[in-house]
Amino acid sequence: MNKSQNWIDRGLAHVANTYGRFPLVAASGKGCWLTDIDGKRYLDFLAGVAVNSLGHCHPKVVAALQEQAAKLLHCSNYYHIPQQIELAEILCEHSFGDRVFFCNSGAEANEAALKLVRKYSADTYGTDRFEIITAIDSFHGRTLATISATGQDRIQSGFAPLISGFKYVPFGDIAALKTAIGPKTCAIMMEPIQGEGGINVPPQGYLQAARELCDKHNLLLIFDEIQVGLGRTGKLFAYEHDNVEPDVMTLAKALAAGPPIGAMIAREKYATALSPGTHGSTFGGNPLLTAAGVAAMKVLLEDHIIDNCVAMGNYLKAQLEQLQNKYTFIKNIRGRGLILGMELTFEGAEIVKTALQRGLLINCTAGKVLRFVPPLIVTQDEIDQMIEILDGILKEL
Ligand SMILES: *Cc1c(COP(=O)(O)O)cnc(C)c1O
Repeated sequence: MNKSQNWIDRGLAHVANTYGRFPLVAASGKGCWLTDIDGKRYLDFLAGVAVNSLGHCHPKVVAALQEQAAKLLHCSNYYHIPQQIELAEILCEHSFGDRVFFCNSGAEANEAALKLVRKYSADTYGTDRFEIITAIDSFHGRTLATISATGQDRIQSGFAPLISGFKYVPFGDIAALKTAIGPKTCAIMMEPIQGEGGINVPPQGYLQAARELCDKHNLLLIFDEIQVGLGRTGKLFAYEHDNVEPDVMTLAKALAAGPPIGAMIAREKYATALSPGTHGSTFGGNPLLTAAGVAAMKVLLEDHIIDNCVAMGNYLKAQLEQLQNKYTFIKNIRGRGLILGMELTFEGAEIVKTALQRGLLINCTAGKVLRFVPPLIVTQDEIDQMIEILDGILKEL
């Protein structure tokens, strides 16, 4: 028996079976390559679902973690933490935001955003103005409040009663957004590009219309940039493509390029609603993870990572479009930068399985959309290798 099978059997016996895992036992990673416990190498175009944006084990992130781990691992948020302060400064300097709440995941960042908009609205307008409009096919996380915000039956099913006060509208439909706003509405929350929902890019002008509606009705606009933020779309934040700024933004996945961290960023006017005692997190913003976050942000901002994302995003999109010209079962290629989707006329699960056998990691979302979210440091040669494997699979269908 190889080493992998032993681990797989043990995992199936005792690890919560929430993922329907593929038969890969991860051992190490470098750049765009993941190696399993038996030494097989995989070209990683999933990147831990858009987490390993600087590639696996970026040396500057690893060094920051090692150095910080030897100095101070954890310290209560009752005290000031320099690494946390530095990361907050970097995020505010490069975004619309003034103040950052740190936590440990995307769902927690969204929880903080949802609490903030409700608290601000209650403090300012009274307690019966609490409704939050979100989009159908959105994804905001797996906690009770964030599945309530997520406009997908598949994710909510079985967990009733959900948190009340959410209204869902078709993504990209300005008229529907307008109609959904009522006297109880306090905020609109959306992903600038839907990730899990199938790499859905809204029509030009949609995010701007959402901003205008928020201004007109005194609503807060929350952008969930957990998947698309931090360079992935070819700009530091996806909202920059549309010349629209939110009031609140959530980040997580790529923020420390591997280690778990989340952040909720808000304008000062709204951020103060979360006053001492109204929200918190024991681990949130701890020295170890924020040191990694600072290192990751510096690499992202200083090492031309986003320039590479733009160039390689264009290249990958062109290569995927060539496949589309070749195969009639490819409906379209969509996305921006290095978050690209290939919609098929059938379910993509088998392609993902075959790709794994041939040393390529991709995944399929919303049933029929193959998702490509490689590290932002991916090279043209690696894209060529990916396309060759994918083309080989598609050819046999
Ligand atoms: C991944 C994701 C989340 C949830 O993040 P977790 O860290 O898994 O809790 C929320 N929103 C979006 C857009 C995501 O892609």
